Amino acid sequence: MKLPEKLTKLKAYDPITGSYAVRLDANESYFDLPQLLKSKIADQIEQISFNRYPDPIATEVVEAFAAYYNISPDCVTAGNGSDEIITLLLGTFMEKGQKLVTVSPDFSMYGVYASLAEIEVVTVQKEDNLQIDMDKLIAACQQANAVVFSNPCNPTSLGIPRSEIIRLIESAPDCLIIVDEAYMDFWDETVLDLVCKYENLIVLRTCSKAIGLAAARMGFAVMDQYKTNLLRAAKSPYNCDAISQKICAAVLQEQDLLRRCCDEIIVQTQRLYAGISELVRRYPDLLECVYPPRTNFVFVKTAYAREIFEQLEKAGIAVRCFPHGLRICAGTRREQTLLLSELERILMPS
Ligand SMILES: *Cc1c(COP(=O)(O)O)cnc(C)c1O
Repeated sequence: MKLPEKLTKLKAYDPITGSYAVRLDANESYFDLPQLLKSKIADQIEQISFNRYPDPIATEVVEAFAAYYNISPDCVTAGNGSDEIITLLLGTFMEKGQKLVTVSPDFSMYGVYASLAEIEVVTVQKEDNLQIDMDKLIAACQQANAVVFSNPCNPTSLGIPRSEIIRLIESAPDCLIIVDEAYMDFWDETVLDLVCKYENLIVLRTCSKAIGLAAARMGFAVMDQYKTNLLRAAKSPYNCDAISQKICAAVLQEQDLLRRCCDEIIVQTQRLYAGISELVRRYPDLLECVYPPRTNFVFVKTAYAREIFEQLEKAGIAVRCFPHGLRICAGTRREQTLLLSELERILMPS
């Protein structure tokens, strides 16, 4: 039997596994839920009729999400992580052979899902400073059916201002603009409020980062009501399980808790940025630069990414290694102190 050609280059996403004292590699929140809230959720889970299918629209979650972000629940589709949502969007709003613009470096899964959907990927390279040249992106979008990118960006930690996103949306009215705002809780240049104004705009959000629920697998697509109804019709009916729905609805209702955690993570990220900036200043031959983050992680440009990564790994600290740098997530104060002293030890001339 011959398998499809498109599978030949497929490689499984390779997250770091194994046990590490400090995990700063997956951009998760370092806050677990308060015990009291966990108990409350456990009680609610006990009430679930496990023999019944879950709510196909995830109504409670969608309403809590919409209330938290001050948008209409009629514009929200819940999915099994934004990863499922991306696949679903490509399969629903694009056809085989159409063109999708991506940028590089960016979240690597966009290209994988596009290839599986037999969509042609056109990649616009970022500049040396890792910023997107918006005029270049706008030009590429004139010949394309859709574009997808993260804002703020994983892995660069940099953000594109809202005004520039609006310029893109207005300059490419025939191109679907998919803005993945997985980290926008840590910045304030969202375009969530514009989905009903612009027919060609789709915004993605997730519970996996600032909301602190990577374990629950819940993501959202936000777009006008007409397209939302189409997407809801195209998805598999029971894509979000009943347990995750209970967890995410309960947590999204804790607006004060979420805002406090988010503020604290931003403070810790800025502290990490300051600590690494100091190392860049002291070891300019080893670390090229670190970018001012709009996310819960920093990106350090270095020609020695692989070497530093392996040394950190030996010390029980997991970060993410890229060809030209390291992505390091903000952890607790204690984890950060460990990381910085370990980095110092690695960089110090022996
Ligand atoms: C982490 C991340 C996601 C989240 O995916 P989920 O499937 O919701 O966990 C999506 N986009 C980007 C850019 C991310 O970094």
